[in-house]
Amino acid sequence: MDSPLTSFLQNEIQAKKDKGLYNEVDILSSENGPIIKINDRELINLASNNYLGLATNPALKEAAIDAINTFGVGAGAVRSINGTMTLHQELETALAEFKGTQAALAFQSGFNCNMGAISAIIDKNDAVLSDALNHASIIDGCRLSGAKIIRYNHSDMEDLRQKAKEAKESQKYNKMMVITDGVFSMDGDVALLPEIVEIAEEFGLMTYVDDAHGSGVMGKGAGTVKHFGLQDKVDIQMGTLSKAVGVIGGYVAGKQLLIDWLKVSARPFLFSTASTPADTAAALTAIKQLKASDQLQTQLWENARYLQKGLKDLGFTLSPTETPITPVIIGDENIAQTFSKRLMEEGVYAKAIVFPTVPLGTGRIRNMPTAAHNKAMLDRAIEVYEKVGKELAIIE
Ligand code: PMP
Repeated sequence: MDSPLTSFLQNEIQAKKDKGLYNEVDILSSENGPIIKINDRELINLASNNYLGLATNPALKEAAIDAINTFGVGAGAVRSINGTMTLHQELETALAEFKGTQAALAFQSGFNCNMGAISAIIDKNDAVLSDALNHASIIDGCRLSGAKIIRYNHSDMEDLRQKAKEAKESQKYNKMMVITDGVFSMDGDVALLPEIVEIAEEFGLMTYVDDAHGSGVMGKGAGTVKHFGLQDKVDIQMGTLSKAVGVIGGYVAGKQLLIDWLKVSARPFLFSTASTPADTAAALTAIKQLKASDQLQTQLWENARYLQKGLKDLGFTLSPTETPITPVIIGDENIAQTFSKRLMEEGVYAKAIVFPTVPLGTGRIRNMPTAAHNKAMLDRAIEVYEKVGKELAIIE
């Protein structure tokens, strides 16, 4: 007889396969740059979060190698024992300056940063108002905190106001927080931060913005909060070092008092080994580059607008994106999967995103142009889109 674990796993895997949710992982035998290699084929890459091309940047590689030579390959301990090196300190100073806050604290990933920071700030006596399309790491951080989770409809400010009012009037909660992505990763739309901050002031909510997709992209690189000039109004700015920054890691930027508290209460800081010297030095070099020049952001936006215009001119429907995230709406989940497969056969790598990540019937191909693409690559991608779009009768 099968062990309980084997039966459980077999059933769960089959259930995922039946729903078309059991994805095989593609394996790269190259850098994750504008051109990638999968199964010995070179493909134009429209699937990474490497917005500025920094994941393959020579200065970052060199900084990582130097850091390995000076500090070794591992930090050797958690941050709160003796895993904190001068590199971590320099990165945090650079992040605070970059974000325009008093201080910052780096974590090993964006995911564990949200888990650690949210659960260090709110608890079971509190309530958190959370946008319905917030990232999984926010949802998990909120669940872990034990606070009452009150979901408001995506970017629906009337719903947020109403729910904030009810929560306040109930007098059930010690503290209340509103939490949102700065840029929503599946549609590319931007949170209505000025309205969110106003509602937060009216009902006494703390404010937390996860700017994983806005940092390095919006507000001349400093992010969505800076884009709206709200640095003094948002209490907690969270970001990742894995997307535009090109490396790995997460961080919180805010008041010194906030950072002092997280250092003694955020569990990934206390109980998980510090990020490696190589990652930390590479991220530090990236932040210095972003502060020194906005040339990469300019290139990113130029490429994004070029691709978006090319696809729209062909007759494709894009989501109402306000950022380089470029989702082409296909509708039917199976057609979206076939579309992505055909793109790959024609030399373009872009992922189909389907239910439950996005609502049923809104299957899409999510394209991620970067600063590292050149016009020839984008032109070729647009040509392939035209061919596959006509073949599958998505465009005429
Ligand atoms: N927040 C958002 C909005 C994200 O999109 C992601 C990455 N998918 C994360 C947090 C987690 O960041 P990381 O990949 O650095 O763990």
